[in-house]
Amino acid sequence: MKKKKYILIGTHNRGKFKEISQLLPKRFIKISPSQLKIKSPKETGKTFKANSKLKANYFFKKSNKITLSDDSGIEIFSLNKQPGIFSARWAKKYGSFNNAMKIILNKLKNKSNRKARFVCSLTLRISKKKSYTYEGLIYGKISKKISGTNGFGYDPIFIPNGKKITFGQMRKDKKYKMDHRFLAYKKIKKKITAL
Ligand code: IMP
Repeated sequence: MKKKKYILIGTHNRGKFKEISQLLPKRFIKISPSQLKIKSPKETGKTFKANSKLKANYFFKKSNKITLSDDSGIEIFSLNKQPGIFSARWAKKYGSFNNAMKIILNKLKNKSNRKARFVCSLTLRISKKKSYTYEGLIYGKISKKISGTNGFGYDPIFIPNGKKITFGQMRKDKKYKMDHRFLAYKKIKKKITAL
């Protein structure tokens, strides 16, 4: 049997923390930055990839533990891929995710193209020298109204391709097994199970 390992999930977002925890094998003891009283770094990167690397490096340096960090967000094609890396910051700017979603629905009112995708860049930092970064993308469209109370963030306005309901209406255990984080995780899984 493989040894128990500590892994820091580098996020203060509870929704993300839960999803990433569920993806990891049971033998990993999952630690959050708040347990170690580590604050979040400034997300100064211009891409999801740059920010996920920046977070993993920062949390690894602060904790000295194997770290898995993601940077994710929603890109809406007819809005020039906004909010993108600013997804969390839009919620702050407009006061809540609910307000940010209302703004998006309003911006899309007269647009026929409602295509969107969730992006996740996932970085695993194992040591000072070794790290891996992979990306997961899930395509879909923005719904006409805010629907569902499951999940977090922009889940209530995103309908993945091939489905008729939003992520917010979907059972949590279904969503986390198909979303952008899961798709990125699938690519990084081998590196994690080898630890
Ligand atoms: P950050 O990666 O911490 O900068 O935050 C990403 C933001 O993107 C989150 O706060 C959510 O608003 C949004 N986001 C990322 N993944 C998801 C998801 O699976 N569902 C809904 N919103 C998400």
